[in-house]
Amino acid sequence: MAHYDYLIVGSGLFGATFAYCAKQAGKRCLVIDKRSHNGGNVYCEKTEGINVHKYGAHIFHTSNKEVWDFVNSLVPFNRYTNCPVANYHGELYNLPFNMNTFCRMWPDVHTPAEAEARINEQRAEALAALNGREPQNLEEQALCLVGKDIFFKLIKEYTEKQWGRDCKELPAFIIKRLPVRFVFDNNYFNDLYQGIPIGGYNLLIEKLLDGVETKTNCDFFSEDFNALLESFNIKLSTFNNNRVQAAHALAFKIVYTGPLDEYFDYRLGRLDWRTVSFKTRVEDTPNYQGNAVINYTSHEQPYTRVIEHKHFEMFGQAVYDCPKTVISEEYSSEYKPGMEPYYPVNDERNNALAEQYRALAAQEQNVIFGGRLAEYKYYDMAPVIEKVMNLEI
Ligand code: FAD
Ligand code: UDP
Repeated sequence: MAHYDYLIVGSGLFGATFAYCAKQAGKRCLVIDKRSHNGGNVYCEKTEGINVHKYGAHIFHTSNKEVWDFVNSLVPFNRYTNCPVANYHGELYNLPFNMNTFCRMWPDVHTPAEAEARINEQRAEALAALNGREPQNLEEQALCLVGKDIFFKLIKEYTEKQWGRDCKELPAFIIKRLPVRFVFDNNYFNDLYQGIPIGGYNLLIEKLLDGVETKTNCDFFSEDFNALLESFNIKLSTFNNNRVQAAHALAFKIVYTGPLDEYFDYRLGRLDWRTVSFKTRVEDTPNYQGNAVINYTSHEQPYTRVIEHKHFEMFGQAVYDCPKTVISEEYSSEYKPGMEPYYPVNDERNNALAEQYRALAAQEQNVIFGGRLAEYKYYDMAPVIEKVMNLEI
């Protein structure tokens, strides 16, 4: 007789939402996390009274009303709307590409028709250079979408910093996500709903895990987990040192949200990731850059973006009532073992390897693989929650 219905490995949004839904269904869960805190990548640390997004800026956005109502039933969300600004050698442009961007880029442009005509002129130039063939890489795709002025000032160098490769060597599909709008609308997302939990993401995680047993500093693959098993009188040796079998003596089912390749001890090889590192500091001013997100779109700065965390949750006078501010510079780099795995790499080798691991995962009995690490898939927050809400628990 196992002690729990579910052992949930990882307390990020996938694991925490799963624990919440399982608890609602009357199941007993134990959640473990190798970090010293719960919440995975949405975890925030308070500095100078400001919630600092420790693992990168997180803005919740969705068009799914069920997901929006669900998260708001736990913690109400604020009215934050993501309107990033690009800085190119000191020139400031609104993102995503919209009438505000175009009027700034071309001072003689004032109307949508004028902007469209200017972009069409530059698109025609790019299409002519292709001589009838399809765009083969990100550079060609971007030139055909928005023309050379926007490409060279707002896309090329930012993208090269982000991906560490020349735009001619990157796949075209990456850039298809950038919206182009002929209206004065700086809202980055097209979704119906967006915002930040009032009081921060930690509150959301606390609500999801309320009444659930959790254990931090407990890596499923480490001695700490062995010690946890021992505390239930479960010995690894009884199971031929097979950790998954031993874990099944603790819980009927395992929900695994850690890296897919690590679960299988990298037996087919390692999956690659892109990672980001952060240089975070306190500035002695209430308002450092006037916006939560500024993208640096030239090689002049080695970082891609600067985040000023207070603007996610403080508006109007509240910005000045808090005398200091916390900013983070983001540096994008190649992942090496020991670093935080952030973005899956979408190339042939990694896609094929992930497929092979997924086939192994499908054969595992009573183990659910879920979330961005275990599925090796880039997931925004809302789809992770939606996925769990649709599982049969
Ligand atoms: P995670 O949050 O990574 O949680 C996995 C947990 O498992 C971690 O706590 C980890 O410590 C734990 N774990 C791993 N291995 C083990 C082990 N062996 N033993 C025990 N515990 C283990 N989404 C948005 O919607 N909006 C955004 O603005 C946004 N910005 C992002 C910015 C960045 C830089 C990144 C990387 C992602 C961003 N996302 C954003 C995506 C968002 O972070 C994910 O959707 C979300 O984190 C997925 O939750 P998860 O539970 O799958 O993974
Ligand atoms: N991008 C860009 N300039 C910017 C912002 C984004 O060229 O100022 C490009 C870049 O190639 C990036 C892609 O658009 O990889 C998607 O960016 P987005 O911010 O939507 O996604 P994320 O940063 O979450 O990957």
